[in-house]
Amino acid sequence: MPLGPGLRAALGLVVVGAPVVWAVVGLLPPRWTSAALLAALAVAAWAFGRCVDARIAELHGVLRRLADGDFTARAPSIGGGLGREVNRLAARAATAVEGLSRDKAQLSAVLDQMTEAVVAVDAEGRVLLVNPALSRLLAVDEAQARGRRYVESLRHNGIAELLGSVLRERREMAHEVRLFSPDERIFEGHAAPLIQDGRPCGALLVLHDITRQRRLEQVRRDFVANVGHELRTPLASIRGFAETLREGAVDDKENRIEFLRTIEEHADRLTKLVDDLLDLSAIESGHRAPRLEPTDLAALLAGSSRSFAPMAVARGVTLKVVAAPDLPKVSADGDQLRQVLANLLDNAIKHTDSQGHVDICAEPWHGGVRVTVSDTGSGIPADDLPRVFERFYRVDKARSREAGGTGLGLSIVKHLVEAHGGEVSVESRRPGGSAFRFTLRAA
Ligand code: ADP
Repeated sequence: MPLGPGLRAALGLVVVGAPVVWAVVGLLPPRWTSAALLAALAVAAWAFGRCVDARIAELHGVLRRLADGDFTARAPSIGGGLGREVNRLAARAATAVEGLSRDKAQLSAVLDQMTEAVVAVDAEGRVLLVNPALSRLLAVDEAQARGRRYVESLRHNGIAELLGSVLRERREMAHEVRLFSPDERIFEGHAAPLIQDGRPCGALLVLHDITRQRRLEQVRRDFVANVGHELRTPLASIRGFAETLREGAVDDKENRIEFLRTIEEHADRLTKLVDDLLDLSAIESGHRAPRLEPTDLAALLAGSSRSFAPMAVARGVTLKVVAAPDLPKVSADGDQLRQVLANLLDNAIKHTDSQGHVDICAEPWHGGVRVTVSDTGSGIPADDLPRVFERFYRVDKARSREAGGTGLGLSIVKHLVEAHGGEVSVESRRPGGSAFRFTLRAA
């Protein structure tokens, strides 16, 4: 074992002092010999004791630093390997603490990054941790919540009930949790007991946001219900007229052609509905991505206007195109753009009375082009405006059906324009007419 400088000095004193003492002892009368020897030994023992005291005081200081968490402290060498054992202990403690700190840092990084809200409580219901997602969700301060009972600090009945049940019943549970501010949000709450050494010591709750999923389910349910409803009307008519014909009207020369024409009309409606549904589904699922090409918009608008001229004339509506002379070419899929214009023009002419006007106007807009299809027709009430681009949304249901509308036209318009990277909007007054606008990027 290596000796410290103090210890070495004390031993040196004894080793070097002994011959001197002997020499002195040889010169002294014999009765003084034992006394001198004892005195020399006492001096050596005193020096040695002082030395050991200093080592122990040093060791004490090191132990205190270790206890305070300073694992860089190292003990001096002391006989019997005590210092070495203390140092080994310190090194192992340092490694263990380092490992724990690393684990803790990793855990908090995971909790911080989680989109799910997490809260852990102890067996008495005191909050052990809440992650940032939960802090944001419930507007609670992490530091303030910690150590307080969840009933007071989280202040949410659904969450409190779930945590309470898990603490009581000591088994995993899942429940839907709803939050209402500012908007309604739906969460799947999953709670499980925390187990330590085989015994439950608290509970952990994870909230997973399923709002979007629930809304999509609702949209799907509404969609199926809407499609069913839309199909039922023409099918019922077709069936009714077919029955009438079978039960004798087939011999009614005056009316049978009219009945057959009505059946045809409803069959056309069904075909249009199915076509629109297939279109919408193809666009939404990305199977009809636009094939973008530099397109001469003025020429395309003129073409669309020509196709709708007969309808406009039949309804006594004046149809006009105004394209700015400095229009850049736009990046568009010609067929899809024609479909957008067809839906907007069909609506505009349908909702405008005789003597009215429908104008198609194109102008440069933020480096691209903005197209406006405006009419002097019936207009759309302000309450309905935000919903007209929804599937199957109709302002005047009976009139729209009567006019052969499927309620899908504007929804298709919105999807097609957005697939082109543009935006649609509507402005309307009732009475006063409507203006549907969409933007396109320059080629
Ligand atoms: P539809 O097939 O019924 O026309 P759309 O999706 O094209 O369905 O339009 C949705 C609803 O918006 C229509 O039912 C109609 O009530 C209203 N609408 C659309 N365009 C106009 C317009 N130019 N003037 C007045 N109402 C309109």
